[in-house]
Amino acid sequence: TTPSSPLLEVVGGDLQVPLVNGEARRYVNLDYAASAPSLRAVADHVTEILPYYASIHRGAGYASQVSTRLYEAARGTVARFAGARDDDVVIFTRNTTDSLGVLAGCLPDNGDVVVLDIEHHANLLPWPPGRTRIVPAASTLATTLDRLSAELASKPAALLAVTGASNVTGEQLPLGRLAHLAHRHGARICVDGAQLAPHRRIDMIASGVDYLAFSGHKIYAPWGAGVLIGARDWLDAGDPYLAGGGAARDVGSSSTVWHQAPARHEGGSPNVIGAVALAKACAVISALPEGALESHEMVLRTRLVDGLAGLPGVQVHRIWPDSASAIGIACFTVAGHPPDLVAAYLSAEHGIGLRHGKFCAHPLVDRLGHPSGALRASFGAGSVGSDVERLLAAVEQLVRYGPQWTYGEVDGRCAP
Ligand code: PMP
Repeated sequence: TTPSSPLLEVVGGDLQVPLVNGEARRYVNLDYAASAPSLRAVADHVTEILPYYASIHRGAGYASQVSTRLYEAARGTVARFAGARDDDVVIFTRNTTDSLGVLAGCLPDNGDVVVLDIEHHANLLPWPPGRTRIVPAASTLATTLDRLSAELASKPAALLAVTGASNVTGEQLPLGRLAHLAHRHGARICVDGAQLAPHRRIDMIASGVDYLAFSGHKIYAPWGAGVLIGARDWLDAGDPYLAGGGAARDVGSSSTVWHQAPARHEGGSPNVIGAVALAKACAVISALPEGALESHEMVLRTRLVDGLAGLPGVQVHRIWPDSASAIGIACFTVAGHPPDLVAAYLSAEHGIGLRHGKFCAHPLVDRLGHPSGALRASFGAGSVGSDVERLLAAVEQLVRYGPQWTYGEVDGRCAP
């Protein structure tokens, strides 16, 4: 049976939203993969530390000292969460896009980057044009790994950049095997952990991952903070990501001496609250019993995928038939019903929030055969069985009877 209570309490778990027929219903948030709701523990921690809101590093006052300690301690919490090496650097950024941008700016000169075409645009677009080799995924994961191996063997590359889990289908990639493959060919591996980090334990040492990036807003913390963790040498050699105060150690009229990482890439006043909140989320997740996240999600995902696939005209998409595990995402289409209309209908008539479109992964959604987009239901530690049942009931009603629009007005908006 699916869980009736969340694994972790989130803010807004009992939010009531207006439907077009005038009723109010509990909001079903199935859009965790875009931005997850805040953990209650994270929100409480932010409230606790707000009185110490003060500029860090160069402030002598008590609140500045406390804020500085919280910010610097957050690096250690995040490093432990990721199973980083003792000498890895933790750089706070704005989000995953920013983190991958920092790494892209630190690539060794002339080093190539190898990526698969299933990536989110954040892990496709920041790499240097002309030095980025995009490998098309094959119809099985095993053949895809062979293709990557052949590509890395054919010509040296500096970096293999892969997602930990697809933001479209939820399928996980075998990070240990990919790291081994990259290292065998003299390349490093960077993992886009935006989707994986909130859902599965990552151990950089055990899996051999050299760089890891993820975002606060997908791991139950607020927007505006992300992280890049990894080997110091490249990060110290690269130009500062944002030139300015904080990144420079000495500035003369004709020369500048830059700090080493992390300060080197954290120019400007940092997002202290964001970084501390991100670290708090990491601490809460790290404290869960081994396997708790996986089993909470697995039961929900199985029910969701089996339930959707059992409805006439509904197709659940995956990239590979042989990928072993997946996080809390189901990508689907409903024959005869355009995804944008389905999403609008589920929101207006059923109070269900999910996402439609191409999910910033255009090459992959095209490859799945849906150039006009698909639907994505995604969930996590705050989700319960009734979220899944509400979606299944609504989609079942849709495929059996078509959209049942009621005409009404919500907040001055007419529907449909
Ligand atoms: N990578 C993946 C796999 C993602 O799902 C996302 C967000 N959808 C990103 C990168 C980008 O994250 P952000 O918008 O926080 O930079």
